[in-house]
Amino acid sequence: MTFVTPAVHLLGWTTFNATVAEKLTGWTTDAVDGQALAEFAGRACYQSWRKPNPATASNVGYLANILRQQHESVLEHGSATFYVTGVSRSLLAELSRHRHISLSVLSQRYVDESKAAMVLPPAVTDHFTAKAGLGNIAADARSVYNAMVTVLTEEGLERKHAREAARAVLPNMTETRFVVTANLRGWRDILRRRWHVAADAEIRRFAGLILAELRQVAPNVFQDFPAEPFGTGA
Ligand SMILES: Cc1cc2nc3c(=O)[nH]c(=O)nc-3n(C[C@H](O)[C@H](O)[C@H](O)COP(=O)(O)OP(=O)(O)OC[C@H]3O[C@@H](n4cnc5c(N)ncnc54)[C@H](O)[C@@H]3O)c2cc1C
Repeated sequence: MTFVTPAVHLLGWTTFNATVAEKLTGWTTDAVDGQALAEFAGRACYQSWRKPNPATASNVGYLANILRQQHESVLEHGSATFYVTGVSRSLLAELSRHRHISLSVLSQRYVDESKAAMVLPPAVTDHFTAKAGLGNIAADARSVYNAMVTVLTEEGLERKHAREAARAVLPNMTETRFVVTANLRGWRDILRRRWHVAADAEIRRFAGLILAELRQVAPNVFQDFPAEPFGTGA
């Protein structure tokens, strides 16, 4: 049985036209892309293109003030898109509860799942007995899946209709893949809940990966997020 681990790949990220911004306002910033756009949006509210206050003259200082004031709507202008692999259908069920994300998910009706990989819950990654048990269940599920697809297509069902019926036996740990987009305010909201000790272990691990990627492109937007998950007790 193939067990896979999660991977998140930053596919898309909002860019910012600093030349146009400077031409229109005379304002410049030490940041680029989504972080510069958030600052521009905030300054546009008050037309505050000058920087008399040293504390908010830099992008990190300006956004720190925005976060303190919970003026988070300015973070909605920039978005980040990821291609995610090696996560389970359980994780997808939880993530899809966040209503401000856009998802494009591998179709279990069109894609042959007879060799679908599985995702171990983090708690049993190194647990020999549990791993073996889940491996057996996955093998059995695949075998029934294959039998159902064969029988149903022989009876005349189109392949996608046979697969949509046969997927009923696939376990929650079946791997899925998807493209997911959220704006920066949306990601902050998701990560506040899922980069948290009370969250399910797999989605918490996923949240840690997303946060690490977002910190690469937007460290100032996530400057108030902890290195370890939020919270003190599950
Ligand atoms: C630790 C944990 C355990 C959970 N356990 C369960 C569980 O057992 N069962 C279960 O069903 N879910 C569970 N959830 C999911 C949870 O209930 C939410 O569905 C999920 O966290 C998404 O949050 P949300 O609905 O606040 O926000 P989102 O859908 O991400 O929306 C963000 C914000 O937009 C606003 N908003 C969005 N839609 C509306 C609306 N229609 N009306 C008004 N305001 C809106 C709200 O302010 C909301 O907080 C759990 C989540 C966590 C983190």
